[in-house]
Amino acid sequence: MAKKEFKAESKKLLDMVINSIYSKREVFLRELISNASDAIDKIYYRALTDDNLTFNPSDYYIKIEPNKDKRTLKVIDTGIGMTKDELESNLGTIARSGSFNFKNENEIKDGYDIIGQFGVGFYAAFMVADTVTVISKSLDGEEAYKWESQGSDGYTIESVEKDDVGTEIILQVKDNTEEENYDEYLEEYRLKQIIKKYSDFIRYPIKMDITESKLKEGSEDEYEDVIEEQTINSMVPIWKKNKSELTNEDYENFYNEKHYGYDKPLKHLHINVDGTVRYNAILYIPESAPFNYYTKEYEKGLELYSNGVLIMEKCADLLPDHFSFVKGMVDSEDLSLNISREMLQHDRQLKVIAKNINKKIKNQLLSLLRDDREKYEKFYNSFGQQIKFGVYNDFGANKELLQDLLLFYSSKEKKLVTLEEYVSRMPEDQKYIYYATGESNERIEKLPQTEIVAEKGYEILYLTDQIDEFAIKMLMKYQDKEFRSVSSEDLGIEDENNEEAKEQAEENKDLFAAMKDILSGKVVDVRVSKRLKSHPVCLTAEGEISIEMEKVINAMPDNQHIEANKVLEINVDHDVFKSLKAAYDNDKEKLGLYTNLLYNQALLIEGLPVNDPVEFTNDICKVMTN
Ligand code: ADP
Ligand code: MG
Repeated sequence: MAKKEFKAESKKLLDMVINSIYSKREVFLRELISNASDAIDKIYYRALTDDNLTFNPSDYYIKIEPNKDKRTLKVIDTGIGMTKDELESNLGTIARSGSFNFKNENEIKDGYDIIGQFGVGFYAAFMVADTVTVISKSLDGEEAYKWESQGSDGYTIESVEKDDVGTEIILQVKDNTEEENYDEYLEEYRLKQIIKKYSDFIRYPIKMDITESKLKEGSEDEYEDVIEEQTINSMVPIWKKNKSELTNEDYENFYNEKHYGYDKPLKHLHINVDGTVRYNAILYIPESAPFNYYTKEYEKGLELYSNGVLIMEKCADLLPDHFSFVKGMVDSEDLSLNISREMLQHDRQLKVIAKNINKKIKNQLLSLLRDDREKYEKFYNSFGQQIKFGVYNDFGANKELLQDLLLFYSSKEKKLVTLEEYVSRMPEDQKYIYYATGESNERIEKLPQTEIVAEKGYEILYLTDQIDEFAIKMLMKYQDKEFRSVSSEDLGIEDENNEEAKEQAEENKDLFAAMKDILSGKVVDVRVSKRLKSHPVCLTAEGEISIEMEKVINAMPDNQHIEANKVLEINVDHDVFKSLKAAYDNDKEKLGLYTNLLYNQALLIEGLPVNDPVEFTNDICKVMTN
């Protein structure tokens, strides 16, 4: 019989799976058992929703059969089975999910268990087996088929006899090598141990014949080997268990078993609610964002179970967008099995659960923030942006809920701080919560606009994310304190120099008007600065749109070009100002040169491009050769 080749790239991938992806070989069994359990879920669900099918709960089980003589290990299930087509498409192509795009093996960090994330779980079998045989009969087909493969060189498929619907996977276990002991995967005690560790909470019995030595009947000292079929797993789903019975490791194993993420969970939440709507949930906050998290491809959602039966793999309605990073499952007795997507949106119970979950996640994050700052910052690093989007989205509908989860870098503390911490430190005479925007903390640190606020001793929040200022503008206030950009016209700072500034403005009215003319339309005003101390110029903006927002909006793909109303501020105490005045009095051409230079400098400080770099450098040369 002709061998069929694995589909494109599969060979390389298969080698990777076998040689490098796994942290531990033993997880091959977890993968096979979890596939078996998925298959039984499917047939169980059909039986519950299809009147023509009747099954007894005792019909559903998984059986593990080691055979030392033949060096085989069988994993048998009574699940939905696979048709010939399904065998080809499910097992003939690795990584159907198509997201397997590591550049090289080194990207796969030690201990990261990404199997299953990419639909390659089945291939884990090749880590311990030379030959893998799958015999399967589908509920939807008459015939049974045998799929067989020795690894990367391809596979064969042929018809075969099998009475019952379900799947049998036979591993021809590898011979021991000098480094590796494969015999252990044929040992009852070892298999039992692996099942207990990874698959204890599988809802269906995982059975195995266990040989035990027992006293012979009627004898006092003669023993005989008795074979007894035992159910190895406890079968109580983890979410129905008591929290006190569970360890962190149990939750971590469940996370891995379910492939909620390929990292470790940062925190878990186990919820048992016995109120008007009853439900159990296990939720995880992952440690790091999936590679596609901030893209359109990312789909949020929780697994939804109705009384232990999986009815939906990704129920989006259970999670608000601002917590879309949360993984896990919800089980409720109060939901109908036949619930469809359309019905879900109107389901009152589901809404109650979603609302409740939203609150619980928030509280969990708050307590993490309070009790384990380091962990929280790790979380914030991965998902802080999503929280900020949450503040901004839906016209700020969730801002109250989310505001205490925000962190910003503080000019004073030199680390991330909460708004509450900021406000609690505000001196009495400080009116506003000050912020400055820029590309990085280092750049903001040097911004001329921060000078006066910093000199006053006030704390400044540094906003370096594109979304930051939008979120802050949406918040408007925190604990009745308004946010104020260090670039805004009114900084609320009592300044002795105010009178002097007014005088200067009056005195140099004509100079400023001339400069404004020179900059024809690029700025709405040229003014005496009240905020500059050592720098000669800076740009600020009047009105709703700040310079930072101009940058962000203009960088968007649908480029609606907008411009902030820019104001060029001049430090009249700076020596440069004397030169300006002299030029105004004696040499109008020079005034033009100086004004353009200063304006372009201000643009550069803001991180904005100068309109005409050639002209700008020519201008500098002119000054140098004068
Ligand atoms: P995943 O489980 O992430 O989809 P796997 O590589 O573990 O990826 O399995 C691939 C597919 O093969 C499964 O999605 C399923 O359709 C099918 N499959 C694997 N094992 C079984 C089984 N025991 N019974 C029925 N179908 C199975
Ligand atoms: Mg799988």
